Amino acid sequence: MTDFSDYVVVGAGLAGAATAWQLASRGHQVTILERNVPASHDASSHGSARIFRYAYPDPFYAHAVQESKELGDVLALDSGSRLITPAGAADFGVERHPRLLAGVLAAEGIEHELLGADEASARWPQIAFDTEVLWHPDAGVIDAETAVNAMVDQAVRHGARLLTGWPLQGLAKTASGYRLHSATGETFDAGNVVISAGGWLPGLLGELSLPSGFLAGLPEITVRQEQAFHFRYREPETATPWPTFIHKRADIQVYGLPGGRDADFAGQKVAEYNGGRFLPSAAAQTGDVDPGNRGRVVDYVRRFLPGLDPEPYAETTCLFTNTPNEDFIIDRVHNLTIVSPCSGHGAKFAPLIGQWAADLATGAANVPLRFRTATTAVSSR
Ligand SMILES: Cc1cc2nc3c(=O)[nH]c(=O)nc-3n(C[C@H](O)[C@H](O)[C@H](O)COP(=O)(O)OP(=O)(O)OC[C@H]3O[C@@H](n4cnc5c(N)ncnc54)[C@H](O)[C@@H]3O)c2cc1C
Repeated sequence: MTDFSDYVVVGAGLAGAATAWQLASRGHQVTILERNVPASHDASSHGSARIFRYAYPDPFYAHAVQESKELGDVLALDSGSRLITPAGAADFGVERHPRLLAGVLAAEGIEHELLGADEASARWPQIAFDTEVLWHPDAGVIDAETAVNAMVDQAVRHGARLLTGWPLQGLAKTASGYRLHSATGETFDAGNVVISAGGWLPGLLGELSLPSGFLAGLPEITVRQEQAFHFRYREPETATPWPTFIHKRADIQVYGLPGGRDADFAGQKVAEYNGGRFLPSAAAQTGDVDPGNRGRVVDYVRRFLPGLDPEPYAETTCLFTNTPNEDFIIDRVHNLTIVSPCSGHGAKFAPLIGQWAADLATGAANVPLRFRTATTAVSSR
């Protein structure tokens, strides 16, 4: 027998969990179909550490972080979970433009300081700063996996169903919506579908009965197998705790943050931004760490992070799903909504992305047009 739900959300990473939470809490009938389990270890929302920060060169995003934080605070309260651990953020390097970021935070009324390199080095001797530094203390570390589970739990508490081990293979239009087919032979009917499949999206797009004009209007989506390394603190009890940081230079772009649970609370997670190899889709990932990337990050730690032992004690791979300008995709056609918020910075927006996606899927409100390039392309023809 084929089951039915008014709304089916495919994928229970941060985006799908947030959308299901928002839909279910508004009283809609929701089923989540997940190929593996929520916060799947081979997707993009697993583990304990993502940077939460307000610093963005584009004021649109600096503002959106504040909206997302408000929703996330409600989630933390309702679920009784700690989702963000304060750590602050240091942004530096010629290509990170700390002064420009300071201007954006000033306009948004977000507490910050612009420090000279020497001043910052005196405060954080564990980091070798090469330019002035933007510091904002309200940044921190998001526990991505706890956030996914909190949102799925809240969705279920509001009546949603979660079906795990349900890999969507494709769907076809019906008179009243869609019939979804799994790779394991099951079917599920839906009035509305939300696809939040992370790095699997490129492989699924051709199986979703999407109009060719809509497909052509989507931005190019690329998937990268990124890698992150954990380095032990030389002085675990250091008087100045480690902040999160983003350092952009002409030769390398690196981010780092306290690794938390993933790294036994003993070290800093450090990674090269967009340093991984391209994949046709998440299905092609191997989980193998590229020795060249490890070498670049170890070399970076030797040069810029004197407070860390430059020998990684743990390492992992993870998937970035990128658009060319790092804007998200939240677009809809024929009762089918596509949500892809990765590009390496989507975690902090998850609660707001859930709100946007639920608004769009239900027709309650539109979303910023920058996320709807496919619809814009179709309607401008
Ligand atoms: C290494 C790394 C570091 C990051 N750092 C930061 C950071 O510091 N700050 C920040 O804000 N953001 C960060 N991000 C980005 C953030 O984590 C992502 O934006 C977010 O996790 C994307 O969530 P998602 O739900 O789109 O995708 P995913 O988490 O990949 O979820 C997709 C889900 O869909 C499921 N699925 C796929 N195909 C199917 C199918 N056919 N049928 C059913 N289910 C399916 C998958 O199993 C998975 O559970 C980082 C990401 C990575 C990978």
